[in-house]
Amino acid sequence: MILILLGAPGCGKGTISKLFQERLNFCHISTGEIIRKTIALNNEFGEMLRQIITKGELVSDEIVLKLLCEKLNECGSDIILDGFPRTLFQAKKLDEIAKIDKVIYIDTPYDVIKERLAGRRICQNCGKVYNVNLHSMNSCDCGGKLIQREDDLPHVIEERFKIYEEETFPLIEFYSNQDKLIKVKSSSSSNDTFNEILSFLEIKWWLLQKKKWIAWEFQAR
Ligand code: AMP
Repeated sequence: MILILLGAPGCGKGTISKLFQERLNFCHISTGEIIRKTIALNNEFGEMLRQIITKGELVSDEIVLKLLCEKLNECGSDIILDGFPRTLFQAKKLDEIAKIDKVIYIDTPYDVIKERLAGRRICQNCGKVYNVNLHSMNSCDCGGKLIQREDDLPHVIEERFKIYEEETFPLIEFYSNQDKLIKVKSSSSSNDTFNEILSFLEIKWWLLQKKKWIAWEFQAR
């Protein structure tokens, strides 16, 4: 099953994707994470990407598609896409290379998102996400330092929202027309949001469970 998580920056796509990865063994593809890892390599290409994302702009469709395809080749059949597609061009290209089952749109009020993004910190080492409004921590479980993403600074957030509305918001209609859209309201608990998504995916969720159960039975023999 291939799922897409759609929503404004900071709506919780990363957290929900991690739950799909941890609990259902989905391969989590975050184009933002791939870009941040590339930037951390400290080469010329990474520096070019850093300059784009610290302005809140989008990386070109060509570059993102290339990075995505490399990662897609490493994944099995259950995949959750987080932060991709972000433009209609990317969505149409994706339709040419993969069969998308459902698109989950996480609808979150802007004031909630702004507060979340202001408190968001990521581990410099493993990329795990924390929120200083909820956890008063200076370091990650792994010992890595928690830092604020350069693109979470207030003036960059404004630009990211603007680009989201112009470039990404039209995808809601695109996938709604394909009859693939599931809309969920973001709840304060990511667990609740995750469970609501699962209830929408009920039949496939059952099939997945069954597949997991068969795998377990097989191992137990
Ligand atoms: P994210 O971690 O998903 O918030 O992404 C961080 C930044 O990476 C975005 O603000 C963009 O600059 C860039 N980025 C991530 N995914 C894409 C994409 N699909 N298309 C273009 N730029 C992207």
